[in-house]
Amino acid sequence: MVNKDYYDLLGVSKSSTKEELKKAYKSLAIKYHPDKSPAEKKEEYEEKFKEISQAYSILSDPEKRARYDSVGPDNYQYGQNGNPFGNAGAADFSDILREVFGAAGGFGENPFGGQNIRQGEDLQVEIIIEFVEAAFGVEKDIRLKRKVSCKTCDGTGSKDRTEVECERCNGGGRIHVSRRTPFGTFNQIAVCNVCDGIGTSPKTPCRRCKGKGVLEEKENIKIPIPAGIDNHQAIRITGKGNEIKGGASGDLIVEVRVIPHKIFNREGINIYMDQIVSFADLALGTKITIPSLMGEATIKIPAGIASGTVMRLKGKGIQSLQSYEIGDQFVNIIAKTPKRLSRKEERLWRELRELE
Ligand SMILES: [Zn+2]
Ligand SMILES: [Zn+2]
Repeated sequence: MVNKDYYDLLGVSKSSTKEELKKAYKSLAIKYHPDKSPAEKKEEYEEKFKEISQAYSILSDPEKRARYDSVGPDNYQYGQNGNPFGNAGAADFSDILREVFGAAGGFGENPFGGQNIRQGEDLQVEIIIEFVEAAFGVEKDIRLKRKVSCKTCDGTGSKDRTEVECERCNGGGRIHVSRRTPFGTFNQIAVCNVCDGIGTSPKTPCRRCKGKGVLEEKENIKIPIPAGIDNHQAIRITGKGNEIKGGASGDLIVEVRVIPHKIFNREGINIYMDQIVSFADLALGTKITIPSLMGEATIKIPAGIASGTVMRLKGKGIQSLQSYEIGDQFVNIIAKTPKRLSRKEERLWRELRELE
């Protein structure tokens, strides 16, 4: 039997990082989780789930991955005694799933038991800002659709504010389920799927929110963007995700994209730019005005410096997000080679050359 390549199974490259592996495994594990399989594809999903879990368990462990890379897929022995999970028992896979999905295992009904805190989903938005806005901070208004408490029923979901005990869980909010998984059959406690763990349900559901207690609404939200934020960094606005009946609100995650600047490149808290200067100015020295984040700045070009000299303007970079430190501005001085010389210029350059 030819073994399947673990990298192919997860759809990642041989040089993928731990984070990329985790991401790939997570999305496949969600897709093929035995709980999600259509009845007619149950076995196929289970098999696939086993395979990707096996691949991830090896590739996520640096030692095992190195060994796998050195012997190749065809010679690699996974586990022992013909058991596809080998020495890695169900417990190890629980650990993997817990590590990848977080404490609750990533599925509504916690597959590994334990506490479930009711919380609305986090929402994610992207915001595009200018380079200078990122450097100095800015406040942006966004309009966002999120689930908020229904005003008709004050978020209770109940028309007459009367709740009755949930029949499914008898008010406990938890139910016993036994589930078949690739690791065997587990008896476990899960959040009640009828009342979402609250233990009660409205006697007469509110007609506006259909008993859910929350409704999608558009809301204007101010996003304070701190000075020093960089491209691809994110801000978490606590409580501005979806609300949930009887639980905590999720958060809003704002991913920041920064439009590149026409002149400056940024690296951390420092900014870099090129400045073209004539040969004459380099030879004789001069003072020039250059752009900076705070407007214009003057720099002194000492006589005789080489093209490619980098000059540093202290404190004219970007404020650090983590501390009060401020970066510097670096100016790369580039000599401008004269082109299309006038007759007079050409004569002077020739004279200069003879002098040298
Ligand atoms: Zn219930
Ligand atoms: Zn309502």
